[in-house]
Amino acid sequence: MTRAVFLDRDGTVIEESGYLDRLDRLAIYPYAVDAVRLLNRAGFKVIVISNQSGIARGLVRESFVAEAHAHISAYLNAGGASLDGFYYCPHHPDGTIAALRHRCECRKPGAGMLITAAAEHDLDLGRSFVVGDRWDDVGAARAAGAKGVLVRSGYGREAEASPRPQVSADLIVDDLAGAAAWILAQP
Ligand SMILES: [Mg+2]
Ligand SMILES: [Zn+2]
Repeated sequence: MTRAVFLDRDGTVIEESGYLDRLDRLAIYPYAVDAVRLLNRAGFKVIVISNQSGIARGLVRESFVAEAHAHISAYLNAGGASLDGFYYCPHHPDGTIAALRHRCECRKPGAGMLITAAAEHDLDLGRSFVVGDRWDDVGAARAAGAKGVLVRSGYGREAEASPRPQVSADLIVDDLAGAAAWILAQP
């Protein structure tokens, strides 16, 4: 079984910009290339897990999510880095699209996306990590038995300033570069 580093997308790999619906608003953090490449080289699977409730709300087309992911992959590939998978949750209980308007197992802090990815990639979740800018990312790590890192990019500074008593991070660090360095130093 392989270890994985699960990356939240918005605010962690790319800049947080609300409901991203156009490629010209997509800005990848420059350090993401080195961070992902170092994790690739260390033998981790690197997998994006993203809550995309904008789909259920009718604000984001599912085809655009695929387009954005292709763009992110191409950008990383050009720098010698690669992602092993993309998983997203299109649901939300307050959605406007009936088929997607429900509580689901996949929306973080649920562990559904991690469990699905673990089955498809033969992952050892107990030796894996989640990196994200919201407590729900750390919560998903906890729910899956993985370690959770909160980054201060995106909404991370606000999250750090509003701790949740029931969710604690294994590390709080400035950004994905710092998270990757810490993960690589773990036994
Ligand atoms: Mg985020
Ligand atoms: Zn879902």
